[in-house]
Amino acid sequence: LGPPELEALQHADVAALLPRPTGESDKYRRGVVGVVAGSERYPGAAVLAVSSAVRGGAGAVRYVGPGGTAVLAQHPETLVSDGSPRGAGRVQAWVVGPGLGDDARARTAVEEVLQAPVPALVDADGLRLLSPEAVRRREAPTLLTPHAGEAAALLGWSREDVEAGRLRAVRELAARFGATVLLKGSTTLVADPDPAVPVRANPTGTSWLATAGSGDVLSGLAGSLLAAGLPARDAGSTAAYLHGIAARLSTPPLTAPDLAAALPAAWQNVS
Ligand code: AMP
Ligand code: MG
Repeated sequence: LGPPELEALQHADVAALLPRPTGESDKYRRGVVGVVAGSERYPGAAVLAVSSAVRGGAGAVRYVGPGGTAVLAQHPETLVSDGSPRGAGRVQAWVVGPGLGDDARARTAVEEVLQAPVPALVDADGLRLLSPEAVRRREAPTLLTPHAGEAAALLGWSREDVEAGRLRAVRELAARFGATVLLKGSTTLVADPDPAVPVRANPTGTSWLATAGSGDVLSGLAGSLLAAGLPARDAGSTAAYLHGIAARLSTPPLTAPDLAAALPAAWQNVS
């Protein structure tokens, strides 16, 4: 028998992976996560991604984009700027894409994030502005977080083919991009670029997660875990796990802000 093709995290695995401050910690050493999200058209995605990033284990969140006022109204602890990622100051990991749009500013933001020598999570609109070459050139880890429709567009497959062959799709994406890929869905899968590493299947999902903004919350959370120093595969699978627990601890029908607000309870639940 070869190595298992699939594995699943359990509470104890997640508890062991969660970053915790120590006596030597300060906010910078805990990690600064940069969030590039939102646009005039989709301002809410910025707020949702930031609200999970601030609860995700990093020490500080830097927001870059046009939604700073709305972000600050919900999260005064955020460092905001309206420039581009390159000029934003130090971050330990970037999240780019939720509600970003696809104009020139969005394009530049994705390029600059991919050029930064730190881990990067690319989601949503960011995935539409990616080339496999730009991702493969990176030395720092990259985590792509498509849902089935976004995965289909990246692969040039139909959505039905992705749904019918999710394991093959996530493996193929990880191979093509040389990146860690988290394929969202009722069972979220996380594939490492190394095909010898088992794919992680998330056991905590619930269909109440099928709600607007739910993916933006996952992105902020996973980005925060990347900034705190987790490897991409652990950051993605731990985020999916906590996201599912947060949903299960929320009163249905849950909303994306409920989910972000339930993250501390999810954290306590697994620890
Ligand atoms: P997005 O489509 O980007 O908003 O992301 C949706 C989030 O909800 C992802 O984390 C999905 O895995 C999760 N999700 C959506 N539908 C379901 C479902 N039927 N069961 C479990 N999780 C789901
Ligand atoms: Mg999404």
